[in-house]
Amino acid sequence: MRTPIIAGNWKMNKHLEDAIALAEAVASATSDVKNVDVVVAPTFVCLASVASALEGTHVGVAAQNMHTATSGAFTGEISPTMLTDVGCGHVILGHSERRQFFGETDRGVNEKAKVALAHGLIPIICIGESLGEREAEQTMDKVSFQVTAALSGIGEEDITKVVLAYEPIWAIGTGKTATPEQAQEVHASIRALLAQLYSEDIAQQIRIQYGGSVKPANIADLISQPDIDGALVGGASLKADSFSQIVMASDKG
Ligand code: PEP
Repeated sequence: MRTPIIAGNWKMNKHLEDAIALAEAVASATSDVKNVDVVVAPTFVCLASVASALEGTHVGVAAQNMHTATSGAFTGEISPTMLTDVGCGHVILGHSERRQFFGETDRGVNEKAKVALAHGLIPIICIGESLGEREAEQTMDKVSFQVTAALSGIGEEDITKVVLAYEPIWAIGTGKTATPEQAQEVHASIRALLAQLYSEDIAQQIRIQYGGSVKPANIADLISQPDIDGALVGGASLKADSFSQIVMASDKG
């Protein structure tokens, strides 16, 4: 009942011409897909052009971050209304690289998520444990804390729009994917937590993506898990053929 969502996080890659070409190639290669939401997240400077190249296609556009204010003296930042203006429908929030390198906090992610929803943007909220936390068997403590903090104050009317992306930090860009069973275990625990925070019915409607070295070779096993509802893809989203194969393999029909 949950439509899988595959999102490509291009990070700080692809200059304008290549970004447009990649977006167009993805739209064309996945045009037969029936039951998958497809989103690409270029850099801020390419958002408007990529969104315009994708207009009228099934592929949506996400930003990789967002400020909470609509305008003001916030040098270097981009507001939610600037994103909606250029045709952005989603925004990735709290990616581990933003938490690690730019000091993003759970509280900040929560504020951004509420503002995104207020402006009609779908937040893709990233959570996940470090290798040290996994080895210390703190995975669920960490992830539960992050989910609870990120969703604080988001009511029943909005929560089903939110997408969660479980991304074990040790699996991002490392080539080490969590096994489908490891990922499923965490996804199922997140869904149980969502049932506690909201209700079982609502928890069943919320999409939880997996992220961390997803590739054409492992997507089928991941997406076949009952609580994995798509993927947030980094490296493999930079090539139209690998990203499109991931999208096509996620179409459950
Ligand atoms: C990511 O950056 O969110 C990610 C999952 O990257 P990769 O697929 O390269 O591990």
